[in-house]
Amino acid sequence: MREGFFGKDVFRYEPDRDVFVCPARATLSPRYRGKSRDNVKVDYANRDACKACSLKSRCTQSFRRVSRLENEAVLDRMAARLALRTDVLDHRRNSVDHSFGTIKQWMGQGTFLMRRLENVRGKFSLTRITGI
Ligand code: SF4
Repeated sequence: MREGFFGKDVFRYEPDRDVFVCPARATLSPRYRGKSRDNVKVDYANRDACKACSLKSRCTQSFRRVSRLENEAVLDRMAARLALRTDVLDHRRNSVDHSFGTIKQWMGQGTFLMRRLENVRGKFSLTRITGI
């Protein structure tokens, strides 16, 4: 987001209606569908509200779009669960992450240089093969 403009955090998503409510209390509805990597991304907008908005200079140069992944509710639920149990991440770091790091170090390999489960899975499968 451009400096000085409202961040996405001030737009409230309402899952029951599948809309965002902006700082001017206008309703932004799903308007455009696209891709973000392998995910479906939905852009919410309300051109008419932006045209007449008194907050426009703090929000956008033309009309505002706010994006949300089609399956972002899953991420929201995970973030809510983690917020209730912050100890879970510490436990994971101390158990799972540490074990994989130690195995890779024993095999004489460094850190994972790739992202995404598919790539990391492929690299780790090579670790097992070379370690036999
Ligand atoms: S410019 Fe549009 S999205 Fe931004 S506050 Fe105004 S009505 Fe809401």
